[in-house]
Amino acid sequence: MPKIKIKNPIVDINGDEMARVIWDKIKESLIKPFLEINLLEFDLSIINRNITDDKITVAAAKAIKKNNVGVKCATITPDDKRITEYNLKRKFPSPNGTIRNILNGTIFREPIIIKNIPKIVNHWNESVVIARHAFGDIYKSKEISVKKKGKLTLKFESKDKKEVIEETIFEFDSPGVGISYFNIDSSIVDFALSCFNFALNRKIPLFLSTKNTILQKYDERFKNIFQEIYEDKFQSKFKQNNITFQHRLIDDMVACIMKWSGGFIWACKNYDGDVMSDLVAQGYGSLGLMTSVLQSPDGNIIETEAAHGTITSHYRQHQNGLETSTNPIASIFAWTRALSHRAKLDKNVDLKKFSKKLEDVCIKILENGTMTKDLALMVGPEQKWVNTNQLFEIIKNKLEN
Ligand code: NAP
Ligand code: MG
Repeated sequence: MPKIKIKNPIVDINGDEMARVIWDKIKESLIKPFLEINLLEFDLSIINRNITDDKITVAAAKAIKKNNVGVKCATITPDDKRITEYNLKRKFPSPNGTIRNILNGTIFREPIIIKNIPKIVNHWNESVVIARHAFGDIYKSKEISVKKKGKLTLKFESKDKKEVIEETIFEFDSPGVGISYFNIDSSIVDFALSCFNFALNRKIPLFLSTKNTILQKYDERFKNIFQEIYEDKFQSKFKQNNITFQHRLIDDMVACIMKWSGGFIWACKNYDGDVMSDLVAQGYGSLGLMTSVLQSPDGNIIETEAAHGTITSHYRQHQNGLETSTNPIASIFAWTRALSHRAKLDKNVDLKKFSKKLEDVCIKILENGTMTKDLALMVGPEQKWVNTNQLFEIIKNKLEN
């Protein structure tokens, strides 16, 4: 079979532990035999981040910015135990955080739906895609403990000192706590643009949730910015594609999500997204079927990955020479989503077909009852499972035919 030629490169970010073992298998058995592709490889293993003093992470992010498409393997975010394990110079920050800050994007988490794998929320037949505004609010807050009687105020003073806004928050008679936080229009605008572009690209409706009945300035700002951008730039395109945008109260939205069967994007404020992404992931059942896409506001730059981590427990078995039954599907879909974005930008029809075919092959194999242990356990005691190498062999054979 002749290989499909791909004109422009893809940034390939390698990572750690079991996720890395799977990463190399995907490239060797499912990518390189079929595609003539220039992979710009960045090794973000904890060992190489330590050697390069984390400069490799910044270089990888810049390469994604330049080439528009990146695909990333899970990486270790070091804690104190990892510092000892790898004898690290310092506690390097999460690469995902560093890359997100440089690309200034929004993360969209999306499950892969397989008919015969039971979900905890049974009627979620299509994906609920969660978009989290990962800036500001409580994550950039300042809090205080109050011990004595006194007044808590919120004060803004303009740089030229000509404008002062001051509000009394509370008169304390007894001990308590207080907090203040903020957000900025430009970040909300970027978030909104990312969400509208993602919805348009995927042709699925978008919902924004806030609590603007209580936060009539703060959350109202989110609502208004989304509405203005929608009317200005997206309304007619949404209509053409038969999709909708709607603001809903967060409490109404959580009720809807339990009633509806999926097939939409839910744009969440920072804390809501933190909490709800875990709730939705659990509702679909398996981390091995959860994907994650970081997308720039204009929709042109994306970085894709599996939502799970480096799967340390399986790596320990692998190090001991044992076979593991680790689910590679989310990582394979990180590749297919990156390839399909490359195909879209390059107008490469063959590549688009290939990425769709690889996804279909994976889904069909699982639906025919060949799967890894994590999924088999969800199906039930009768369901057999295969190990990772066997599954790769089966996927590759089916793809070749
Ligand atoms: P994890 O790697 O996601 O694994 C947690 C558990 O979930 C595993 O022990 C395994 O359960 C199951 N699991 C996850 N993915 C699976 C798959 N593909 N196939 C089968 N089972 C799977 O999370 P963690 O153990 O908390 O974190 C390990 C390392 O990953 C940490 O160093 C963390 O910093 C890093 N991490 C990186 C990212 C990222 O790069 N995006 C995200 C999260 C965590 P069983 O052991 O029961 O089989
Ligand atoms: Mg969370």
